[in-house]
Amino acid sequence: MNDLTINTAIQTALPATFLGRHLIDGNWVEGAETFQRVSPSHDTVVSVSAKGDAAVTADAIAAARKAFDAGVWSRISAKERSAVLLKVADLIEANVERIAVQETLESGKPISQALGEVAGAADLWRYAASLARTSHGDSHNSLGADMLGVVVKDPIGVVSIITPWNFPFWILSQKLPFALAAGCTVVVKPSEMTPSSTVMMGELLIEAGLPAGVCNIVLGHGEPVGSVMSTHADVDMVTFTGSTAVGKMITEASAGTLKKVALELGGKNPQVIMPDADLENAADAATFGIYFNVGQCCNSSSRIIVHESIAEGFVARVVALSRKVKFGDPMDPDTQVGAIVTAEHQTKIDGYVKEAVAAGAKLELGGGALSVEGLGPQFYQPTVISNVTPDMPIAREEVFGPVLTVLTFKTLEEAIALTNDSEYGLSAGIWSNDIHTCLEYARHAKAGTVWTNTWMDGYPELAFGGVKQSGQGREIGRYGYDEFLEVKSLVMRVGRDSRKPWVKASA
Ligand code: NAD
Repeated sequence: MNDLTINTAIQTALPATFLGRHLIDGNWVEGAETFQRVSPSHDTVVSVSAKGDAAVTADAIAAARKAFDAGVWSRISAKERSAVLLKVADLIEANVERIAVQETLESGKPISQALGEVAGAADLWRYAASLARTSHGDSHNSLGADMLGVVVKDPIGVVSIITPWNFPFWILSQKLPFALAAGCTVVVKPSEMTPSSTVMMGELLIEAGLPAGVCNIVLGHGEPVGSVMSTHADVDMVTFTGSTAVGKMITEASAGTLKKVALELGGKNPQVIMPDADLENAADAATFGIYFNVGQCCNSSSRIIVHESIAEGFVARVVALSRKVKFGDPMDPDTQVGAIVTAEHQTKIDGYVKEAVAAGAKLELGGGALSVEGLGPQFYQPTVISNVTPDMPIAREEVFGPVLTVLTFKTLEEAIALTNDSEYGLSAGIWSNDIHTCLEYARHAKAGTVWTNTWMDGYPELAFGGVKQSGQGREIGRYGYDEFLEVKSLVMRVGRDSRKPWVKASA
């Protein structure tokens, strides 16, 4: 099965095992128990973290509540909040390499992509800092002679932030600076697979002068830590990025106290390729869309929907490009595709591939574990599968690996129908040189983001999120910022005329 040759880079010395502790009310707290992370690529323990329980999670929530109610952050000026966020951005840039190396070792992603993720996150902090100073509601001077109405925006309160393992630092930065810019206080729980970069963020927050209790970090597992963060009465909002299954559990768990819940969940994202497209660029984007971050992105384009007249040639282009992509040691700066996050996940990916082939799909490339000299064991071959029908699980479910599924269509209408034939609606894309085709597709694709002649570009100014079972609420941009704000109407009688009594004088 393995028809690729991988040359690993000379090993660089691995850093010492990272020791992670909880951050509660400005203090680093040891855990009575610990858990460890074994690197999926280097098969060695790369971090040992305090293991949170219900009690320590409650302590973190109490600290966030106390800080919020005391107003040490929520009631200071936006100028002061913004200054701290800008300082954090500078500190991120000064610490990019240290954070990225740890993230690569814990997640298996290539170091070049980890460096880009961490350095890029600084811009999210700067953008959020700018938003902090633009928060305003509106006023109404036309409600009647003596009436004035003002709509103000208040921080929502204590926010639980729960993040996944695939982009730990970036996703934290899609949430945390926006919540802080709004004046909220937070409790953060990173994935148990990738806890360290969030602890490093805690160190930077302290260095930047964030008051104690404003950002608390609890390390550990969904049960009990995430569960307490979703149910506790002192939490006003939960913002979660992760699987659709856990998103549904959090929604149910939080219903008891009717918290606001923002969810960024899974996707089964298509790129539609029209016959008039720039096929060289489209094939490159299809390759990037499925192998970036080892195919473990919510935005991975795991479905290519290509016009039947060009399908054969297009698949050949993608297969040729796939053979050139550099798979291997995540610590090698030239590597483009690294390791799969866990052995269980690798088995799940392989199961989808085997099931599709057994059902009649054609394996164009790959389809099995990849051996990488001196490393492993969790690497998977670049895999391209054609002859896929829309009812196969591989075409419907999130595989979350370097596995590209190819479907074909005859008309634009059919391409739109295939796009929307999914319980997910995170992102979608079209490649065509005809503006009418592109606009028709963009208007009718049911997705939070539609890319045209590009894939996976993101900007802090825009909004990110999904429709259907890909989530609810938006992140980044003004829409993302507004998620952390409550709207309050102030209704005032301001004239000299007295209020008309409700109780009749004659009664
Ligand atoms: P996951 O749902 O398994 O875990 C995410 C987080 O939830 C982790 O911190 C985990 O410990 C925690 N958790 C688990 N059980 C919990 C519970 N009962 N209560 C509260 N928290 C709990 O997801 P994952 O495997 O870490 O990440 C991969 C998934 O994330 C994929 O489905 C992917 O599509 C999705 N994702 C979505 C986006 C997006 O923006 N839409 C971005 C990245 C990843």
